[in-house]
Amino acid sequence: MIRFDQVVKRFGKHVVLDHLDFTVARGERVALIGPSGSGKTTILRLLMTLEPVNGGVIWVGDTPLTHQYRGTTLVKASARHLREVRSRIGMVFQHFNLFPNMTVIENITEAPIHVRGESKEAARARARELLDMVGLADKADAHPSTLSGGQQQRVAIARALAMDPEILLLDEVTSALDPELVADVLGVLRDIAASTDITMLIVTHEMGFARDVADRVLVFDEGRIIEEGTPERIFSHPERERTQAFLKAVL
Ligand code: ATP
Repeated sequence: MIRFDQVVKRFGKHVVLDHLDFTVARGERVALIGPSGSGKTTILRLLMTLEPVNGGVIWVGDTPLTHQYRGTTLVKASARHLREVRSRIGMVFQHFNLFPNMTVIENITEAPIHVRGESKEAARARARELLDMVGLADKADAHPSTLSGGQQQRVAIARALAMDPEILLLDEVTSALDPELVADVLGVLRDIAASTDITMLIVTHEMGFARDVADRVLVFDEGRIIEEGTPERIFSHPERERTQAFLKAVL
């Protein structure tokens, strides 16, 4: 489903991802953990095409995300190609990033109406279902500024799902929340993981959440995967010293 093939990402001279290879199967839930600055968020931003790669190819299914075929040759992707592949991917950010001037339901229906060309009625009906699913059926006409952080994040989750993504990227979705609001957001995500087959890439410092939801954990350090395995294996029997030190610091 997702394949990083020798992906290099640099910011100036700083090599953030150094010939990174990994794959994520369709429907798999993979948690990316590791110290701050190890490149986890950069991976999600590359998948959202918010940043260009400096080397290698990222694949989504049989489609190269970063490139496209001209005949049998891979060339850099056009803006149109990027938009098409990106529409298969939803992302939820640490800071919600809702449109502040729109109501909750307008936030959720914006992309389905304007990017996918859905009718307003169909988009609103689907948005109401999603709001119900995230426990905010009564907030459709509220403005984001009147909601708590946890409620805003649940709207952001509904908004990402409104495009029926094949892949959902979650970037530290609870780290900007007050502790008492974290459980609701994680509960919604656990429900989504249990009731859909969406492929998920989860960058998180919530090790309990990673343990519950992930099929596999990738441990990053300095732009490389230093260890990977089931949550049970990584959290109970980490092999690498760097992993042990990281887990000791966060658990
Ligand atoms: P955290 O857990 O703190 O979010 P992370 O593992 O997600 O960390 P990234 O955010 O991917 O790490 O950052 C990896 C490295 O790339 C860091 O050293 C960061 O300073 C650098 N970096 C990220 N974005 C940029 C940018 N736009 N310009 C310059 N450097 C950047």
